[in-house]
Amino acid sequence: MTRIFDEPATFADDALDGFTAANRRYVARVDGGVVRSTEMDEGQVALVIGGGSGHYPAFAGLVGQGLAAGSACGNMFASPAAGQVYRVARAANNGGGVLLSYGNYAGDVLHFDQAQLRLNAEGIETRTVVVTDDIASAPIDQLEKRRGIAGDLTVFKVAGAAAEAGLSLDEVERLAQKTNYRTRSLGVAFDGCTLPGAKEPLFTVEPGHMSLGLGIHGEPGISDHPMPTATELAELLVSTLLKDKPDDAGTRVVPIVNGLGTVKYDELFLLYGRIESLLTAEGLEIVEPECGELVTSLDMAGVSLTLLWLDEEIGTHWAAPADTPAFRKGNVAARAHRDVEQLAAAAEAPVEPPTAAAAALSSAAVTLLESVRAVVIEHEEELGRLDAVAGDGDHGIGMRRGVDAAAAAAAASAAADAGVDRVLVVAGEAWAEKAGGTSGALWGSGIIAVGHALGNRDAYTAAEAHAAAVAFQRAIVGLGKAEAGDKTMVDALLPYVEAYTSSHTGGASVTENLSNAAAAATTAADETAALSPRKGRARPLAEKSVGHADPGAISFALIAEAVARTYQELITTKENSHE
Ligand code: ADP
Ligand code: MG
Repeated sequence: MTRIFDEPATFADDALDGFTAANRRYVARVDGGVVRSTEMDEGQVALVIGGGSGHYPAFAGLVGQGLAAGSACGNMFASPAAGQVYRVARAANNGGGVLLSYGNYAGDVLHFDQAQLRLNAEGIETRTVVVTDDIASAPIDQLEKRRGIAGDLTVFKVAGAAAEAGLSLDEVERLAQKTNYRTRSLGVAFDGCTLPGAKEPLFTVEPGHMSLGLGIHGEPGISDHPMPTATELAELLVSTLLKDKPDDAGTRVVPIVNGLGTVKYDELFLLYGRIESLLTAEGLEIVEPECGELVTSLDMAGVSLTLLWLDEEIGTHWAAPADTPAFRKGNVAARAHRDVEQLAAAAEAPVEPPTAAAAALSSAAVTLLESVRAVVIEHEEELGRLDAVAGDGDHGIGMRRGVDAAAAAAAASAAADAGVDRVLVVAGEAWAEKAGGTSGALWGSGIIAVGHALGNRDAYTAAEAHAAAVAFQRAIVGLGKAEAGDKTMVDALLPYVEAYTSSHTGGASVTENLSNAAAAATTAADETAALSPRKGRARPLAEKSVGHADPGAISFALIAEAVARTYQELITTKENSHE
């Protein structure tokens, strides 16, 4: 259990502040996480890692020379929001581009992808390598579905060393990908962990037993076993991992024995000794092993074994020096410290003040969002009922939380004299951060993309409005990867943009384009009733869903109609005021 805290709700942030205070030599605090406080070379690739808090030394403890340039730190066991990743990456960037790397969990993927879209749109070249080392989480022919656990360390270490050596973004990405492919882990748990302030553990393991392959947040394992001896445990871990070797594994291997929270170092060392003997007996050469706490899960009782199968270049980067709060190796050359205030300021996007005409457009954007809010509130219960048919019933409340936050953020931003781009970007960020759920991340990124597409101007042409609709579609499809017929909001969105495009190329006005597109979305949303879901939470209950429309498609169509109506009203008011 967690004994030391004031407010459970602010535990992660409070702990991160204290961590920074204790480690100023290595890190500086920025909004959303920490960045390295020591100077980097101009043009050096910035490795930005991150994930939920509660896994120390992952992730903030691995920021420093020779390793990560920054870490986005989410709440306890919760992905950082896209805005956090974005801000940390902006502060960490040194002109050489950004590599995002983190363990493969759905929430993290959504938020990091959204941050990547935004960074790229702003000209900060950004790539991603997701860590997938946990062999218990999917079979060997589905490597990309595996979760990331202690193998985070090998990928971060090799990518961080490559960045420190001045390699290009292409090369750092390639090495990170290869290291991920050559890293395999397997964990066992003896007991669960308890979140700060919680009365009950998040999950438990039957006393006297051990669960093989149990995830670091309690995701179900492969099998339960009576508690083995250390030798039996070593044999189980080694033999299972050796069956899951990558192609061209070679004979040089880095074993990493990782404690998950409450297993003592003496026990870890004992287990390591057994493991090393078994690997040596297989004719393998042991290279620079690690044994200790590297990726933990609060007070979870458990251990994992990671094997990194070296080749020459990975071996070089694994051996390179590093100096971070929790991981030190060799001797790094001392570097000067950066200006902490400047770093914090770099995290924020630069803001251009709008002209009077542009400010009038920001207030129109706020009016449009208010109308979206009104229609979501009007249909909140109906959307919840529709989502309860085969989903989890939260679509109405999720959309409501998102749009409430978005409308409030947009109004505040417009009042502070921001242009349309800024108003929509903060609205999208607020939507994604507050809504939760799949639709929250998708709507957030869609609105942010519209903000970027429109920019901060005095007026927009019909072609620019059309480009914004296309950007919305790209963001949603790019992030959610749903295809036509999967029974998602995309089944209303694709017909929307198609109708918009043909109306626009036919020379119609923006008002007509919006209303033609909305009509197409409404028809298409109703037609999703006939489909069977292939994406999202409704998939496992596919049969129940047939005969009912997709909630996300319906809410999209309702919003499209509201936007078309409100736009028409705005134009009419404007025309009248000119008379
Ligand atoms: P959650 O599914 O996380 O509970 P919501 O209930 O708010 O989120 O939203 C559900 C809607 O999200 C679905 O009806 C569907 O339209 C949409 N959705 C789910 N997955 C995807 C995806 N991959 N791409 C596009 N839309 C999706
Ligand atoms: Mg739902």
